[in-house]
Amino acid sequence: MPDTISTNPTAAEVRDTVILGSGCSGLTAAIYAARSNLKPLVLEGHEPGGQLSITTLVENFPGWPEGIQGPELIENMKKQATRFGAELRMAHLSSIDLTKRPFALNLGKETIHTRTLIIASGASARWLNLPSEQALIGHGVSSCATCDGFFASGKEIAVIGGGDSAMEEALFLTRFAKKVTLINRSENFRASRIMLERAIAHPQIEFLHNTVVEEVLGVEEKDVRGLKLKNAKTGQQTELPVSFMFLGIGHTPNASAFKGMLDLDDDGYILTQGNVFPTINGQPIPGVFACGDIQDRRYRQAITAAGSGCMAALEVEKYLEEHGR
Ligand code: NDP
Repeated sequence: MPDTISTNPTAAEVRDTVILGSGCSGLTAAIYAARSNLKPLVLEGHEPGGQLSITTLVENFPGWPEGIQGPELIENMKKQATRFGAELRMAHLSSIDLTKRPFALNLGKETIHTRTLIIASGASARWLNLPSEQALIGHGVSSCATCDGFFASGKEIAVIGGGDSAMEEALFLTRFAKKVTLINRSENFRASRIMLERAIAHPQIEFLHNTVVEEVLGVEEKDVRGLKLKNAKTGQQTELPVSFMFLGIGHTPNASAFKGMLDLDDDGYILTQGNVFPTINGQPIPGVFACGDIQDRRYRQAITAAGSGCMAALEVEKYLEEHGR
């Protein structure tokens, strides 16, 4: 793996850094890199603004005592980054070769060269992909119990899934909700025994097995009022009156483009050393950094994503300095 920055004279337009992803981590990296005069280019990818852009009120981001709407928080970060010289562009990465310097990012119609790369493309929550569910995201449909649990105070709600995420969400949501119905599409659980037993033992949690959601009710009212369910074994259809549906069916890290180029864990998250250094065969890759949910399956919070974005940008600065920039 080369550890020198190419001085190829044809690479006059080589950028100091390109950031993949415009969620909380990518934009924080952009703010720091821009303030270091690195004129970062942020490629917004397929989910501009990341997961915050599809949440409503964010009440746990420090500095906003009354909370702030997720999209507004992202918009503020974009303004802050561009104010210092970051450039944001709607583009998707088609391919990249991490063995050559400078890195060549193939964006389909154009190729961009960069000395360093910050991968901040995040993880996307899995959805059921029902039209009614998609229409009600932010109006009673959520994939983030930590973010939206408070709004379920005193209500009857549903959590979908049978893994640890679903158990954790269901248990967390009992702090707010009057009753939580956990809906699992089979009778088998992926959840660890301890989490499952805790959920089963909880008096506010009720289980529905072999049950799939066919429709989220409330599209016309723009507010969830119930779920149309079907028993996968008997075919029997029922309606469950609930005010919220939380998805706990997992996340997919947006790292498939790096398969074979970076070490990934079994679920496709980028493995990092020291939070932001990705590896290949256990060895760090000079000039490549990763931050945010794409390398964090544990915390997955806006503030931790922002923190690692800051770390990545500081490491970029250090790396460029060490290489004579
Ligand atoms: P998992 O892949 O473990 O579980 C996903 C669950 O969602 C499964 O029950 C699956 O059902 C269900 N599911 C998937 N797609 C659909 C769908 N379209 N419709 C209905 N149900 C669906 O994901 P998790 O996020 O729960 O966990 C991921 C990893 O993170 C695990 O290793 C877990 O242990 C870990 N984790 C640990 C926590 C902790 O220790 N506190 C907390 C959260 C996660 P099926 O089985 O039928 O496919």
